[in-house]
Amino acid sequence: MILKIILFGALIYFLYKAFGGEFKLPQKKDKKADEDGDTLVECSKCGVFITKKEAIFKAGKYYCDECA
Ligand SMILES: [Zn+2]
Repeated sequence: MILKIILFGALIYFLYKAFGGEFKLPQKKDKKADEDGDTLVECSKCGVFITKKEAIFKAGKYYCDECA
């Protein structure tokens, strides 16, 4: 009986993982929030601080609207 429950649990866990599970969701959310980000970055040219959202990313550096 206990073995059955364990197997059933393992099956559910397997299916859960196979479909991407919810374990990944918090990470995905964090990553997305970071990408959308209100994180401040410094313009490589004039040094002004802008949000990542507004910044223009060029050749590995962030630039403000005016410098881009
Ligand atoms: Zn600038």
